[in-house]
Amino acid sequence: MARYTDSVCRLCRREGTKLFLKGDRCYSQKCAVVKRPAPPGQHGQSRKKPSNYGVQLREKQKCRRAYGIMEAQFRRYFEMAERMRGVAGENLLQLLERRLDNVVYRLGFADSRPQARQFVRHNHILVNGERVNMPSCLVKAGDMITIKESSKDIERLKSLKEEGIGVLPKWLELDAANLTGKVLTLPKREDIDLSLAEHLIIELYSR
Ligand code: SF4
Repeated sequence: MARYTDSVCRLCRREGTKLFLKGDRCYSQKCAVVKRPAPPGQHGQSRKKPSNYGVQLREKQKCRRAYGIMEAQFRRYFEMAERMRGVAGENLLQLLERRLDNVVYRLGFADSRPQARQFVRHNHILVNGERVNMPSCLVKAGDMITIKESSKDIERLKSLKEEGIGVLPKWLELDAANLTGKVLTLPKREDIDLSLAEHLIIELYSR
């Protein structure tokens, strides 16, 4: 499976915004977007005004990179979103939010989506009591997300138990003491805190 292996901070600098791919570092002064806000590369500071296509492309890349998804799979999400009832852009974001790795991140079990993906891949996560190691698995209302008993001593999880989580999306419920989360309902657009113009992504793929 194809995987991005270069510096993830480059992606944030390219999109000109924090994508929160490195956990605690993203909230510190060491963050590359804080230290070097210009786009990466020799001509990073001298880019011209983008075209309409360029603006749409950047919005798609920002979304795709925030969730850590490769192009082919992202396009499949777009096609699914188009087939669903409702607004395609909102459907797309809802599908991305429902990914298991994202839910693990949103529940605070991991401090970034890349770490959440690793937890899922390494069999630390149970969905309704069953081991699931596919980060792209889509959760549904009523699903219970828990940590495998033998994985509960991971450092990140110990601090979650002690300190709880700062902000929990309304569509999720967390029992931090038992490291158990529940999907209360499917996420709506207002529950998703990403500053994205999702209609630009739809326009890009509809060209
Ligand atoms: Fe992005 Fe985090 Fe790196 Fe900052 S530290 S550039 S937010 S991945």
